[in-house]
Amino acid sequence: MEFFGGLPASPSLRGSPRIADLEVDQRDIRRLLNDTTRTATRPEIPPMRQTVMAFSSGKGRVLLVHAFSDPDSMVPTPMTSETDTPQAQPALGDAPSFSDAEGSHHVPVRQADVAIVGAGAAGLFAAAWAGRTARERGRPLSILAVDGARKLGAKILVAGGGRCNVTHWRVAEADFAGSTPPAIRKVLARFTADDTVAFFKAAGVELKREDTGKLFPVTDSARTVLDALVREATRGGTSLVHPARVEAITRDTAGFRITTSAGLLRAGRVILCTGGKSLPKSGSDGGGHLLATALGHSLTAPIVPALVPLVVPSGHWITALSGLTLPAELVLSAATGKRIKACTGSTLCTHFGLSGPAVLDISRHWLVARDQAAGTASPPARLSINWLPGIPPDAVDALLLAPGGRGTLSILRDHLPDRLTRQLCELAGAPTSGDLPREPRKRLVHLLTATPLDITGDRGFTLAEATAGGVPLSEVRLDTMESRICPGLHFAGEVLDVDGRIGGFNFQWAWASGFLAGTAAAS
Ligand SMILES: Cc1cc2nc3c(=O)[nH]c(=O)nc-3n(C[C@H](O)[C@H](O)[C@H](O)COP(=O)(O)OP(=O)(O)OC[C@H]3O[C@@H](n4cnc5c(N)ncnc54)[C@H](O)[C@@H]3O)c2cc1C
Repeated sequence: MEFFGGLPASPSLRGSPRIADLEVDQRDIRRLLNDTTRTATRPEIPPMRQTVMAFSSGKGRVLLVHAFSDPDSMVPTPMTSETDTPQAQPALGDAPSFSDAEGSHHVPVRQADVAIVGAGAAGLFAAAWAGRTARERGRPLSILAVDGARKLGAKILVAGGGRCNVTHWRVAEADFAGSTPPAIRKVLARFTADDTVAFFKAAGVELKREDTGKLFPVTDSARTVLDALVREATRGGTSLVHPARVEAITRDTAGFRITTSAGLLRAGRVILCTGGKSLPKSGSDGGGHLLATALGHSLTAPIVPALVPLVVPSGHWITALSGLTLPAELVLSAATGKRIKACTGSTLCTHFGLSGPAVLDISRHWLVARDQAAGTASPPARLSINWLPGIPPDAVDALLLAPGGRGTLSILRDHLPDRLTRQLCELAGAPTSGDLPREPRKRLVHLLTATPLDITGDRGFTLAEATAGGVPLSEVRLDTMESRICPGLHFAGEVLDVDGRIGGFNFQWAWASGFLAGTAAAS
């Protein structure tokens, strides 16, 4: 660990000779941080009242920077960053006691009242509400949000095609899967979509509702959402520390001991917001599941990708229709024929299989059913596709019987692309023109309304938008998101066994659970 600018270390700060405990003016602060990161100081605080701590990761890069208005109390103050982009913002952390990344320097363990592990959607939201709650109650708390990612909020930035579908105008437990509907409802009721709209409005982000019911920022830019979240979290007093991967958390009588790639941290309370396993390159790779199990929690089985494209065998006729998009209904049925789940919406044929909202929505249901049947005597559930949603089989039959001598291709042209009709006629052994005899007609009606799908798998967590499974809600107190197993540990976001359908529901879950966990942890 090094200091920048050759400024003297103070022996007064927790005895560490490696910490620059300085009373400096703004120019010194800037000089201290020059060439390594941008400054993040509070102009409204008199310069001589600011204490700056800068740490090098040992790789010529500032790892942690923080300023206090009151160095004695060690309570972090909100900071305004000069940067307009969260990833350009310096990693902020009141972390004078973190050892460096290589662990070659041993300094005392850093203390925090609340440590938030994972600063994604749920973590930043929990941070914002923990800070607000602490202030409202006049309880100065040291709140740290630790994230393993070099750039914060990668998933927020890619969400909604870069526009970030923040929530949905109408949110209900039926839009989610995983834990039981009453449990999910209880959490959602505490922070509604209206609350989300109000929160972001107050944070400077107006949301607009689109025809689909999805809400996006009026800027159509996910960056405004991420910037607002970072701003609200730091304004509330949370210090963001990254990259600092949490490797282990243990609990003893004194609280939590958190081992990170940047050193040791002790905290009175922990909010675990590590996400699931989807888009692992964003930092959410399932490591949080292991942290939860090490603290005594169980995980659902299976844990599978959700909102993920599905794969058919190579050379399957669907792959020949690659590029075709049309509305369709995906139906999951038990071997008995009983409908388990149906999802309707835009469906896309691709070179590997199927994608589009309806397929993404049904994917977790098929994967869970498949995995639960594996190794048992039960026959697996089956997936089929109705290419004419909203038209019952009898009506399709009547349509094909329409008088006037029109052939099948001509009749179905009002409903389906020719490419698909030709393919289904071929599979049914039905002519595309001229008379359609009874038997091929019956087969065609069946294919039009319930083509059995031969799905071999999914595109994996790398291409999944969410994770099905995680820590069961039954192990969490739903009014505080506090663990029933490990007191002082709270959960929020996708690490829990809740996943939403396409439409902004996963973020709404992150907001609602983050709100509850943040306010409770700071209360
Ligand atoms: C491509 C894509 C598009 C999406 N679009 C939308 C959308 O438009 N609307 C919507 O509602 N949902 C969308 N989602 C889903 C949504 O992004 C997630 O449900 C949501 O981000 C979950 O929030 P989270 O905070 O629980 O987890 P994450 O956002 O995954 O954040 C977890 C954080 O924890 C950190 N972390 C993990 N493990 C550790 C560790 N051991 N130590 C330190 N840090 C750790 C990670 O680096 C990460 O920053 C999309 C997802 C993807 C992948």
